[in-house]
Amino acid sequence: MTHSAIFSSDYATARMRFRQAISVLGWQAEAHSIGATGPGGEDLTIDVGYPSDMPHEKVLVVSSGLHGVEGFFGSAVQLALLEQWGSGKVPPVKCVFLHGLNPYGFAWLRRFDENNVDPNRNFLSEGERYEGSPAGYAELDRLLNPLRPPSRWEPFTLKALLTIARYGMPALKQAIAAGQYEFPRGLFFGGTGPTRVHQLLEEHLGRWLHGSRHVMHLDFHSGLGPFGTYQLLIDHPLGEQQRHRLTDWFGAKSFEETHSSSIAYETRGGLGRWCVSRKFAPDYLYACAEFGTYGPIQVLAGLRAENQAHHWGNHPEIASIRARQQLKELFCPSSAIWRSRVIHHSLDLVDRALDGFTSL
Ligand SMILES: [Zn+2]
Repeated sequence: MTHSAIFSSDYATARMRFRQAISVLGWQAEAHSIGATGPGGEDLTIDVGYPSDMPHEKVLVVSSGLHGVEGFFGSAVQLALLEQWGSGKVPPVKCVFLHGLNPYGFAWLRRFDENNVDPNRNFLSEGERYEGSPAGYAELDRLLNPLRPPSRWEPFTLKALLTIARYGMPALKQAIAAGQYEFPRGLFFGGTGPTRVHQLLEEHLGRWLHGSRHVMHLDFHSGLGPFGTYQLLIDHPLGEQQRHRLTDWFGAKSFEETHSSSIAYETRGGLGRWCVSRKFAPDYLYACAEFGTYGPIQVLAGLRAENQAHHWGNHPEIASIRARQQLKELFCPSSAIWRSRVIHHSLDLVDRALDGFTSL
């Protein structure tokens, strides 16, 4: 099968193929409904697959679609892996696959969930409150979240460039994407309480990882970084051994600790830090495998346009369809070169993790 054929055209197809591949491997399958429906009236589910009869001291977790529309890419990676293993080469450690962590966004081509929440800003640690926004967000709100229907001429790129010139890109990224809890119709809204996927992982992740000592979690994302390349973003404090392991397995330049970096930005409510703090395993190493697509202004402009059409469009059905198709392209480019490159890199990443595990 070519790399392009691994990509599904919609959520329902992606889920069907995931379930089939899990069943071919004879793995345990679970489907957890989120109580919402997709465009075809289908019940939306978070799907999970794992071999129930494997030793479980070392576990590789591969997750997709936390950011809805990014699931087109993550789901393709999962399918490529499962099909590869279905035709012979079985992984040497237990793997837990989490498919479509934000099925609403995946099905409806949004990055956010059914309540406009960015699930990757929702995993606040115990005692942290769903309040506040980063310095500067309130001033940017008018630029990012105009309270009017989309118009034909949106000088957003120009305005964004002027804003960057004024504040600088790192400050702007921090203000925009760090997560905010005050503008429920805005971008990167972290919610008012735990989302469905947050509750689901709280309830079941411990069970899926039961008995594990070493967990490597690769959470596949797209939309940040140069076209077709990737970076492993680590949002939790690393132990010395974990840092060595990342270097050994993936190479010193492949990862970046986001709480101390200037390229990415520090966020609140990230999944990785939460998984680590919940101690699902004594040694839990999480990496957001972030694959680049288009430039940051273009991606932000697409997010803004889609969000505006969704909340304020005069004819939301029509305006949203166009904006959502554009969003899909921004987070999962149709370019055959991009698709082949990202699948190649992803399979290599997982191979390295599995090889690494055997020497652990
Ligand atoms: Zn993402």
